[in-house]
Amino acid sequence: MSGSSASPMMVQYLALKEQAEDCLLFYRMGDFFELFFDDARLAAQVLDIALTSRGEHMGLPIPMCGVPVHSAEGYLARLIKAGCRVAIAEQIETPEEAKRRGGSKALVARDIVRFVTAGTLTEEALLEPRRANVLAAVCEVRGQCGIAACDISTGRMELEECAPDRLSAALARLGASELVAPEQWDLAPAAAMPRPAREFGSDQGEARLKAVHGVATLDGFGMFSRAMLAAAGGLIAYLDHVGRGKLPLLLPPVARSGDAHLAMDEATRASLEILVTSQGSRKGSLVDALDRCVTGAGARLLAEDLSAPLTDLTLIEARLELVQWLHDDPLLRADLRTVLRALPDLGRALGRVVAGRGSPRDLGQLRDGLTEARRIHDFLLPRTDLPELLRTLLPSLAGHGALCDHFARALVPSPPTERGQGGYIAEDYDAALDELRRISGDARRAIAALETKYRDQTGIVALKIRHNGVLGYFIEVPAGRADALMAPDSGFTHRQTMAGAVRFNAVALHEEASRIAQAGGHALAAEEAHFEQLVAEAIAARHAIAATAQALARIDVAAGQAERAAESGWSRPAISAGLALEIEQGRHPVVEAALAAKGERFVANDCRLASHDRLWLVGGPNMGGKSTFLRQNALIVLLAQAGGFVPAARARIGLVDRLFSRVGASDNLARGRSTFMVEMVETAAILAQASERSFVILDEVGRGTSTYDGLALAWAVVEAVHGVNRSRCLFATHYHELARLADSCEALSLHHVRAREWKGELVLLHEVAEGPADRSYGLAVAKLAGVPAPVVARAKAVLDKLEKGRAETGGLAAGLGDLPLFAATAAAASEPEVDALRARLAEVDVDALSPRDALELVYALKHLAE
Ligand code: ADP
Repeated sequence: MSGSSASPMMVQYLALKEQAEDCLLFYRMGDFFELFFDDARLAAQVLDIALTSRGEHMGLPIPMCGVPVHSAEGYLARLIKAGCRVAIAEQIETPEEAKRRGGSKALVARDIVRFVTAGTLTEEALLEPRRANVLAAVCEVRGQCGIAACDISTGRMELEECAPDRLSAALARLGASELVAPEQWDLAPAAAMPRPAREFGSDQGEARLKAVHGVATLDGFGMFSRAMLAAAGGLIAYLDHVGRGKLPLLLPPVARSGDAHLAMDEATRASLEILVTSQGSRKGSLVDALDRCVTGAGARLLAEDLSAPLTDLTLIEARLELVQWLHDDPLLRADLRTVLRALPDLGRALGRVVAGRGSPRDLGQLRDGLTEARRIHDFLLPRTDLPELLRTLLPSLAGHGALCDHFARALVPSPPTERGQGGYIAEDYDAALDELRRISGDARRAIAALETKYRDQTGIVALKIRHNGVLGYFIEVPAGRADALMAPDSGFTHRQTMAGAVRFNAVALHEEASRIAQAGGHALAAEEAHFEQLVAEAIAARHAIAATAQALARIDVAAGQAERAAESGWSRPAISAGLALEIEQGRHPVVEAALAAKGERFVANDCRLASHDRLWLVGGPNMGGKSTFLRQNALIVLLAQAGGFVPAARARIGLVDRLFSRVGASDNLARGRSTFMVEMVETAAILAQASERSFVILDEVGRGTSTYDGLALAWAVVEAVHGVNRSRCLFATHYHELARLADSCEALSLHHVRAREWKGELVLLHEVAEGPADRSYGLAVAKLAGVPAPVVARAKAVLDKLEKGRAETGGLAAGLGDLPLFAATAAAASEPEVDALRARLAEVDVDALSPRDALELVYALKHLAE
């Protein structure tokens, strides 16, 4: 690669790079993947490896870096994590073939064999075991958005249609790691990679799905709209592109209907921290506090359940019944979990096998997983009290007998991940293979015997027969003893002189070595042929195997839920078609766990919403537990509708269709957009979408702006949710003025988190009680937080002035009672005047005072008044 005109290799490289488009090109050279030019600069930086250069291109050195092929996976993982996509260009012929084809100077032909992108991974090392890896395609047909999503590591595929304004919520649920959309589509999400628009055709989509599944009609799989099919077309075309014509495992598509699931938009998911916290970590999220699954597939299904809780009573009850059954029988649960824990990841092993990247180990995993599934089947079958859901799952756990037997006979107990060395096909499976192995075994023994013979013959005790990749077998003696073997008639031929040793060959050794090489080559070829056949067998059974994997995951989820419930005394929620939401002694699973870790106790709280009392205004000091209370109730609804037990003594839940959670802007400064604008956009969505069936939690909404604006907006929002949307709602606020709404809104009631000042210190009780909050305790909270005493004292002085002003003018909400709509508002209860003197006096039991105590009290009061 030198000189001013591009070398043939550079020409080849540049042509491949053009095909790779915006992907980094991994260019195979021997044992390395090399990267050049900007690719090299970027990769060297991301991977923290040395950037070197090689030759010249157009008069400038070519930047280069490389990674060894055998450890490429780790590097790929880091590049993908950093947001890169990679095209792999392999050598598609051997150097010998190249020479035969084009003479001694011929360049080895290379081609891109695969694109590695975040959404199309199947390798174990590149995937997180407890997270699904979703690739999604979106497009629009006649005003409706179609979404096709698949996890190619397990083959699951689902199609969905929604109105354009619901697109972002639907995508938030999927949490895809890669998204594609037609180029030049106005509504394309910013994160989507543009693909040619012609690939998103509904006719093509339909044709491709039929072809993939070998069916004449899709009716057997469900009903699919034009938009769904168009998205499926885009998805399969993209998979085809990244796999260079080889499609991964795709199971029959499932149509997801919009109202089958509890709807939650992006803001709600983020604020409830369902799968990740606001910092993006799994630790501290709901799923983390809940997950007791013992398999990766179980953990993935649990995450899916929590992302898409159900709205169908029968389906929820079916899940709950299974959890209950496992909950009530700890021994059975423990047994099941022990067996499940040892299971390999069946679904992902199958994914790799179908994608053509399977190893003997993957086949071994299929064998072991399916065999264990069968054992679970046999273990459960005799039980007469099986819950309905389990009864329907049971058949998919069996039925692989022939395949298991075959794989058990064909494969060694722990097959390797590499095929190159062979050794994975079991003995006694193929007589011809056994014979080839016997031959090479004999030859190996013969070589061992030769070593002894040559030692005796030469009298050199240190003589050894060794093997390496370049010379094959050779005889090695210390340099000082080599002379005897150098003699022309010694029977040995010299091969190599090293610093301290000399290496020789001999006719007999050569013969045995050839026998090993030949038999070894044939044995490898025989194993390879068996491998292909086993792979074909697994592929033919892919749908049944995937169903087994899915059934095992469902059992694991239910057992995990039961385990979690048993751990902390959770209860089975009673779900109904009504509109009540009654939670007794509810707890927040994440906050409770965090407190427990510090040795602190969580205070359980009740929540009781019904049509006639559907909106609770929750006041009280900051840090008093308002947010926690709001969220725990939303999470309990979510957990219940996902079909699990809930952290409460008792829960009665009228099915919720949509769940909304909003947090006032000032908590979310990190987001960077105009936070108040965000707050209002999100609030607007609630007012537009929430129904009588919905559950809404609003945490300090309105505080992202000035006091007057904020109060006014909070006021109007509460009125609208109460009167227009009529949703069940918990609204946390520090505006006392909102308490007046209780007079005009008949189904609104006032509550507060309790706090007490004791000996001048603020004690937060975290208890939700009825009635309005008496005061905000802002200064006490500031003191608790360590604001210096002089500053708190100064704030107290300012506050006194302000409060005096309020008393004179009627306060912040003065005049609201005159608004026609609120004519019924009664006069506000006057704010009780509170100060340290009064507090101190209130504590005094006058009758119990001795004269001396009384005198001291006067001194103390005087001191307080200063
Ligand atoms: P607020 O929204 O009123 O400012 P938070 O709900 O954020 O208060 O709660 C503040 C802290 O108080 C939490 O981080 C937690 O440590 C504690 N806390 C909240 N609720 C409870 C509870 N029910 N029991 C015990 N501690 C609680």
